[in-house]
Amino acid sequence: SSASVQTSAKDVNKPLYKDAGAPVEKRVDDLLSRMTLEEKVYQLNQYTLGFNHNINNLGEAVKNLPAEIGSVIYFDADPQLRNGLQKKAMEESRLGIPVLFGYDVIHGFRTVYPIPLAQACSWNPALVEQSSAVAALESRMSGVDWTFSPMIDIARDGRWGRVAEGYGEDPYATAVYTVAAVKGYQGDDLSSDRRVAACLKHYVGYGASEAGRDYVYTEISRQSLWDTYLPPYEAGVKAGAATLMSGFNDISGIPASANHYTLTEILKNRWKHDGFVVSDWGSVIQLVNQGVAADAKEAAEKAFMAGVEMDMTDNCYQRHLAELVKEGKVPVANVDDAVRRVLRVKFRLGLFEHPYTKEVKQEERLLLPESLRAVERMAEETMVLLKNSDNVLPLSGMKKIALIGPMAKNRADLLGSWSAHGRAEDVCSIYDAMHREFAGKADILYAEGCDFEDESRGGFAEALDLAKKADVVVLCLGEKRGWSGENASRSTIALPSVQEALLAALKEAGKPVVVLLANGRPLELVRIEKLADAIVEMWQPGVAGGKPVAGILSGRVNPSGKLAITFPYMTGQIPVYYNHRSPAREGRQGRYQDIPSTPLYDFGYGLSYTDYKYGDLKVSADKVKRGETLTVEIPVTNAGSRDGLETVHWFICDPVSSISRPVKELKYFEKQLIKAGETKVFRFNVDTERDLSFVDSDGKRFLEPGDYYLMVKDRKVRISVE
Ligand code: BGC
Repeated sequence: SSASVQTSAKDVNKPLYKDAGAPVEKRVDDLLSRMTLEEKVYQLNQYTLGFNHNINNLGEAVKNLPAEIGSVIYFDADPQLRNGLQKKAMEESRLGIPVLFGYDVIHGFRTVYPIPLAQACSWNPALVEQSSAVAALESRMSGVDWTFSPMIDIARDGRWGRVAEGYGEDPYATAVYTVAAVKGYQGDDLSSDRRVAACLKHYVGYGASEAGRDYVYTEISRQSLWDTYLPPYEAGVKAGAATLMSGFNDISGIPASANHYTLTEILKNRWKHDGFVVSDWGSVIQLVNQGVAADAKEAAEKAFMAGVEMDMTDNCYQRHLAELVKEGKVPVANVDDAVRRVLRVKFRLGLFEHPYTKEVKQEERLLLPESLRAVERMAEETMVLLKNSDNVLPLSGMKKIALIGPMAKNRADLLGSWSAHGRAEDVCSIYDAMHREFAGKADILYAEGCDFEDESRGGFAEALDLAKKADVVVLCLGEKRGWSGENASRSTIALPSVQEALLAALKEAGKPVVVLLANGRPLELVRIEKLADAIVEMWQPGVAGGKPVAGILSGRVNPSGKLAITFPYMTGQIPVYYNHRSPAREGRQGRYQDIPSTPLYDFGYGLSYTDYKYGDLKVSADKVKRGETLTVEIPVTNAGSRDGLETVHWFICDPVSSISRPVKELKYFEKQLIKAGETKVFRFNVDTERDLSFVDSDGKRFLEPGDYYLMVKDRKVRISVE
C-alpha cells in the first residue's frame, strides 16, 4: 500500500503536459507556462544531425547539440542515432521536451517509388496515398517523424529541375494528389508508429522561378497566385497537413519567407492552419541577399513577424530572437503562438509518450514485399505511351530484340533525384527486366551505343550491327538523375545530341525502333518523334526499375498513364500549358514563324493498347440556378480486345466573364477499368458554386450568371447559370 500511495503522490505532482489523457491544447498551455524565453527560442530552431556524420561518431554528433533543441534535419535516419539524441533531450533538458526529427522523404524512404511527376500521370490518387503510406511506415520506423513532402508547386517550365518533385502543371490535379499524399503520410492518427507529419512545400509560387532557374525570383500577380499557386495548399491545409515550408522565391518583390500576406493573412487567419511553418534551408538568412534585410537579425525579425515559426538550419532565430523580444521588436505573444504551433505538432505525433523509436531489424521495416508490389503497380500506371505506329507495341512474334542505349543497364538513374535511403542495388535494370520478361520467348542482344552525354559516337557501329541482326530495336534513352531535382536547371529540355544521333544511326538498320525514355522533366521530343516507331515515357520509376516497362513491351501491362504536364514542341515555347487564358485573336494567336504554336503532346495525352470510343455528353439540366448541382455523364466503350484503365478528364470553360478566364480548366477526373467490349459511364457531379466560380485577386469567390461549357476531349455541352 505504501507503493500505491507513492504512485498517487507522484501523479498529483505530474505536470499536466505529461498527462497523455489531457487535451492537447491544455498540455500545450501548461508546458508553455513553464518555459523560459530561451527554452522557447530553442523550439523554433532546426539543427542538422548526421550531415557528414555516421553511426561511428554518433557520440560526437549528439554531444555537439544542446539538449533543449526543438528539431533536427536528420540525414542519417537511423533509429539508434535518433534515440541517442532523443535520450539527451528527454533526460538532460529541464522540461524533457522531445526533439522533432525531419527528413526529406520525397518519393519513398528505402522503397523508392516513381518521382511525383510520374505519379501524377497515373491519375490514380489511391496509389499516391498508398505509396505515401509506405514511405511513412519506413520513415517512422527508422526514426523520422516528419517528411518535407509533398512538394506541390505548380510548374510550367520544364527547364526547372524541380518539376520532377511536383505533380505537374494543373492546380486541381495537384490539389487532389496533395490530399492523397497528406492522407498517406499522416493517416488519421499522427501518433501511430507508422505515420509521419507532412510538410506542404514550398509555400508559395516557387515553381514560377523565372526562366526555370532555381532560387531566383518569381513574378506572380495576385490573380494567378489565387488561380494557380494557392489551390493545392488550401486543399492540403484542409486535409490536415501538419506543417508547411516557406519558399526561397520572392513573390513579385516580397520574399515567400517574409510574406505576411501568404503566411499570416491567408494561411493562419483565413485558412486557420494551426500547425507551423518551417523556413526552407537558409531561407531566413537569404532575406539579406534578397535585399529586404540588412543583416541576420533583421532577417530573423522579418521572417518571424511574417509568420515563419521555425528556422531551418541558419540559426538566425537562435542567435537573435530573444534579443529581438527584449528590444520590443518581436512581441512575446508572437513567440508564444509560434511555440504553441510547434508543440501542438509534437503532442499530436505522440512524441511525449513515445519519444524513442523501436530498434527493429531492417528486414522488418524496409523493402517489405507488399511495399515493393505497391511500387510496381504504381509505376505501371505512371508510364505514358506517347507513340505507337502500326501497333508495333506490344512486341509479338519478335525472336530477337536489340536492347541498346545508356539507360539499358543503368540502375541508379532510374531512382530519380531525392531518393532518401534508396539504393541502386534495389533497382532492377531494364536489361535484367527484359531478360525475365522475354525468357523463352525472345533473345535479348545488348549494346550500350553511347554515353548519356559524352559526344563520342564510337559505339554506334556495334549498335547498328546488333540492330541489323534483330527484329526490333528497343532504345533506352534519358536523363541522369542529377539532371533534375533541386538546383538542376537546364537551358534546353532536349536530350544531349549524341542520344538523338544514336537513334538516327539505328534507323539505318530498317527495323522498327521503340524508344524508352527515363527522365525527370518533360522533354523536347520533336526529332525523336519523327524517327521512333513507338515511344514510352517511363519516367524515373524508383525501385520498380525496368519491370513495369518490360511488362508494357510484352503486353502484360496495358499502358494507362496520361501526361500531367504539357510536352512543348520545342524549349522555346516554354511556358506552354493547357489552361492559358483566351487569346486575343482567333486564328492569329501567338504564332511563331519557325515552329507551330501548339505543343507536341498535350496535357492529358496518352495512348493505350485498346481503343476507347467516347459517346455523347448528357447533362441532367441545361439551366441551373446558382447553388444548384447537376450531373453530366459520358459513356466510354472499350472497343478493342484488351481490358484497360481509362481516365476521363472533365474540363469547364467560362467563355464570357468579367475577367478573361482560361480556355479550359480541369475540375474533375476519374479512372476506371473498362473490360474489352464493355461500356462504362463516367459521371461528374457539378457543384455550381464550387466548379463554375472563380476567385478575384484577393481570393474571394464569384459565380457569375451566364453560359458555361462542360468538356471532355473534343466534346462540349453548354449549360447556363441564372
Ligand atoms: C530544399 C527543400 C528541402 C530542404 C531540406 C532545401 O534546399 O529546397 O526542398 O526540403 O532543402 O533538405
